Amino acid sequence: SRVPAPKNEPVRSYAPGSAEIKSLISTYKKMWKEKVEIPMIIDGKEVKTDEKASLHSPQDHKHTLGFYYKGNKKHVDDAIKSCLKARKEWAELPWEQRASIFLKAADLLAGPYRDKINAATMIGQSKNVFQAEIDSACEAIDFLRFNVQFMTELYSEQPVSDAGIWNRAEYRPLEGFTYAITPFNFTAIALNLPTSMALMGNVVVWKPSATQIYSAKVIMDVLMEAGLPAGVINMVFSGGAETSQQILSHPDFAGIHFTGSTEVFQSLWRQIGENIHLYKTYPRIVGETGGKDFVVAHPSAIPSQVATALVRGAFEYQGQKCSAASRAYIPKSLWKEVKKIMGAQLAEIKMGSPEDPSNFVNAVIDKNSFDKCKGYIDRANKSKEAKVIFGGGCDAKKGWFVEPTVIETSNPHYESMEEEIFGPILTLYVYEDKDWKKTLQLVDETSPYALTGAIFAQDRYAINEATKALENAAGNFYINDKPTGAVVGQQPFGGARASGTNDKAGSKMNLLRWVSARSIKENF
Ligand code: GLU
Repeated sequence: SRVPAPKNEPVRSYAPGSAEIKSLISTYKKMWKEKVEIPMIIDGKEVKTDEKASLHSPQDHKHTLGFYYKGNKKHVDDAIKSCLKARKEWAELPWEQRASIFLKAADLLAGPYRDKINAATMIGQSKNVFQAEIDSACEAIDFLRFNVQFMTELYSEQPVSDAGIWNRAEYRPLEGFTYAITPFNFTAIALNLPTSMALMGNVVVWKPSATQIYSAKVIMDVLMEAGLPAGVINMVFSGGAETSQQILSHPDFAGIHFTGSTEVFQSLWRQIGENIHLYKTYPRIVGETGGKDFVVAHPSAIPSQVATALVRGAFEYQGQKCSAASRAYIPKSLWKEVKKIMGAQLAEIKMGSPEDPSNFVNAVIDKNSFDKCKGYIDRANKSKEAKVIFGGGCDAKKGWFVEPTVIETSNPHYESMEEEIFGPILTLYVYEDKDWKKTLQLVDETSPYALTGAIFAQDRYAINEATKALENAAGNFYINDKPTGAVVGQQPFGGARASGTNDKAGSKMNLLRWVSARSIKENF
């Protein structure tokens, strides 16, 4: 069988004054005024409880968007039961029927739901128009369409046969139910984690981040309108640690698809280890966690390229990407020029609500994030080893606003060179040109993470040297480009070391984890 060949969804430009931007902003304004009530979805039904939690927008923390219904142990239990009830029929559905649902969901997002999912992401997660479009529209659509293609490629991988025998591989879903824990920072990831497992025939308990529930609701609406049967993906809103404990101690737990912090992932893995004797089958563990992503420039680099990559790579979506550039190594000979260009670009950047599309920088997600960023900036302002050379302003009067901030340090092991901040703070170390080789070693050794990284150089030998020296330092390695913005089908995304299990999102490698193959030999 053939599926429609996927193409990356074209990014809309939303030019000022265009019909596209008018329609998106008017949807934003309309949704801003509505008060939502977001139920959990278990066994295809809306579930409301007596525990309500209010939803706020990061750009205006006093403005209430409505509330969601929180679940408890019973709801998690119901979600697991609903998975197990749906499992057989879903797993036995021919794959074309499953694929159709997700292809239809992609079409719904590309057309009638595009403004809604983008506006929800702008309001609930504080993304500007462009960041919302590349995430909640394009990447989400791409994940759905490309995964269908990858599924067919995977299914078509078959063993050789011989005269008198026919060998076959059958890619069965995992035996049991699966669990998706998704982050706030990409609506597309929130969609991809549960849907990639479901596409392969699995049933899922999905727990979105409490700070992404506003757009999670739209995802669920789309999936249900596309015809997802009851019980295949159950969306629960309940306390993270308890929910995980409950799920991970169930004998039918068969796999986890996680994006979030290293600490949480390690604790989940530990619990799975402790419970290993309980399970019917060894669970699949797939996780993408933190990053401390580097940009390293060689003296042969083009300063304007480096500066642009730093500004965009570090400050798009307020640096709240696992892939964001957060530590940079610049040779002394280029620093003056790079700094000048960065300064000019940063001076142009406007900060404020995404309702005004000219605001490149919006708010960070919540108070915790704001306080964390402010802490790093306050400490840098007092430090002898570091100084804030751009930005540094924090303003929480209306929303959680942190200016794009650049810290220059004389110590390559200064705290913000090593620790993940997940905010609009870039720390930069200027090295002596002669220390290029030593610097590559420094880049490799400074962080336990290995998610993304970028090298800027024109000298082909230097490019080769960096590519080799940093071969384990980044799962996604960019040559003369910023380290963010992986495109589905083009740069499969994921990191190694403390950054995750490197089962590249949006690829066959990832889908392979959600099947349990059976080898069949038939004798004639
Ligand atoms: N795939 C995204 C990028 O390339 C990052 C995903 C994440 O933050 O987890 O920028």
